[in-house]
Amino acid sequence: MAEVLVVVEASPAAGVKKVTLEMLTLARGLGSPCAVVFGDAAALTDRLGEYGAEKVYAASGEDVQDYLVAPKATVVAGLVRSVRPAAVLLASTQEGKEIAGRLAVKLDNGLLTDVVGVEADGTATQVIFAGSGVVKSRVTRGLPIVTVRPNSVPAQPAPVTPVVEQVTVSVAEADKLARVVERVAEARGARPELTEASIVVSGGRGVGNADNFAVVEELADLLGGAVGASRAAVDAGFYPHQFQVGQTGKTVSPQLYVALGISGAIQHRAGMQTSKTIVAVNKDAEAPIFELADFGVVGDLFKVVPQATDEIRKRK
Ligand SMILES: Cc1cc2nc3c(=O)[nH]c(=O)nc-3n(C[C@H](O)[C@H](O)[C@H](O)COP(=O)(O)OP(=O)(O)OC[C@H]3O[C@@H](n4cnc5c(N)ncnc54)[C@H](O)[C@@H]3O)c2cc1C
Repeated sequence: MAEVLVVVEASPAAGVKKVTLEMLTLARGLGSPCAVVFGDAAALTDRLGEYGAEKVYAASGEDVQDYLVAPKATVVAGLVRSVRPAAVLLASTQEGKEIAGRLAVKLDNGLLTDVVGVEADGTATQVIFAGSGVVKSRVTRGLPIVTVRPNSVPAQPAPVTPVVEQVTVSVAEADKLARVVERVAEARGARPELTEASIVVSGGRGVGNADNFAVVEELADLLGGAVGASRAAVDAGFYPHQFQVGQTGKTVSPQLYVALGISGAIQHRAGMQTSKTIVAVNKDAEAPIFELADFGVVGDLFKVVPQATDEIRKRK
């Protein structure tokens, strides 16, 4: 069976990210899943094997770790030329998409982004136009290079013991134009990462101020979810920018998305409308978010949410 390269997303704090496990699950339907790791592969190999990575290509050293994404695209392009895989899967994250774009140019190959499913023949289900449409697409030039949206498929274990193969990294000076000069670990709380969370509770301008976001956080914590925010809430200083959901923020696709005091503007919807179940609380019955919501409560969030949190607490 032909190999399917899965470009691994991982962080020193969290290890292998959930989206990587989802891609390995998806890859099993296309061929033999092989993970491509940049940096220290030893710490990640067991976890990758748990989810079916038959081989781990380990590319390490200053040339890949000290520069931005250009060397990574060069390494993956080299692997594609030598291994001739059936497909390459990358995460639909900022870095994954940038590597994918560069890879497609290097190989003069087609590219599909924001994919939520891939069939055995390479036909992909793709979310387009900021989430307002879903199409079936296929790469017609070269092999499928596909970026996969986090939370599109459930990650399913399929344990194997991976063979680890060191990759000789040989990158050109042109790949070294932007160097990483410092790495600062982002302070992380106990909450899951926004784009990977199965439950997201978001607050909008209707939350009123930064202190009131405690109501949003409390519900998120009781549900074991992440906290998000609309751009209006972020612009008003209620919540930090890295939690913005939407066209110019993060794209989330959780099992459950709870929108509190969010009107449901098209730019917000772009980042959350592929959520499996959407619950909205808004005091305006005409708010556009209700067109999208599976469950809606017309009411003041400061009356509705405490009742919900009390009820959840009773059931714990
Ligand atoms: C180029 C561009 C990019 C953009 N990118 C993004 C993006 O990435 N993400 C994003 O979110 N927006 C984005 N926007 C902004 C977007 O157009 C909206 O302005 C924004 O989403 C509105 O946020 P909101 O729903 O929180 O605020 P509002 O539209 O002001 O809605 C607040 C809602 O809260 C309700 N409310 C008020 N008080 C209560 C209460 N006590 N209880 C219950 N409900 C209450 C109101 O009825 C109202 O529906 C972008 C805009 C542009 C032009």
